[in-house]
Amino acid sequence: MITKVTGFIVSTVNFRDTSLVLNLFTKEYGLIGIMAKGVKRMNHPLRALTQKFTYGIFHIYYKEGKLSLLKDIDVLDTFSYLHEDITRIGYLNYITELVTQVYKESENEKLFDLFLEVVFKMNEGLDPLVLTNILEIKCLPLLGVGILLDECVKCGNTTSIVTIDGDKGGFICKNCYQNEKLVSIKSIQLIRMYYYVDVKNIQKLEIKKEQKEEINSFLETYYNRYTGLYLKSKEFLEKLKDL
Ligand SMILES: [Zn+2]
Repeated sequence: MITKVTGFIVSTVNFRDTSLVLNLFTKEYGLIGIMAKGVKRMNHPLRALTQKFTYGIFHIYYKEGKLSLLKDIDVLDTFSYLHEDITRIGYLNYITELVTQVYKESENEKLFDLFLEVVFKMNEGLDPLVLTNILEIKCLPLLGVGILLDECVKCGNTTSIVTIDGDKGGFICKNCYQNEKLVSIKSIQLIRMYYYVDVKNIQKLEIKKEQKEEINSFLETYYNRYTGLYLKSKEFLEKLKDL
């Protein structure tokens, strides 16, 4: 029996000369593998669709715990705007790798929708760095290392927060402050906003460069120190920054 699943191709692996295994992130079953037989043949109708980042309804013979078998795809979006530019592709690649890893750790059912909302907003042209940081903050609790958003990480004080530090693991109040790098109060407020915002309701993101960088740098340190994730696509993003 054919099952229809809503999914996003996170990667593909060659299988023999003419076939592919698609690694699909689906709303219904999480991460699954699908055998796409013969799709690398020049005249195969699904050849152009069986590529990384295709989002659609996949018609499959679902086999639990094994490779399912692809029959057809109704494409919902290929995110063409994101494909036009190497930086945008870099971000798409990174968040795809990120959610794949976070899903493996958490099997959280809401992650699929959150991920697609972020991809849609990126494809509408909203700031990819801010959207990536929003996704990163929202993924932290799923990895079991959520940030305490209302209190000092050292003493629990909920007032007089003066900075946020990735190595120390969160907010730091006036009394506990030693020599950590100070960030702007605006960045501290924005970090909370990033965590609570409903991505599908975002209409515009106009955040100053200084604050974007403070938040991104905090998250980079925090991810390295607390999540144990190593994402190759992040290195590529870093290299793009130097261009
Ligand atoms: Zn404190």
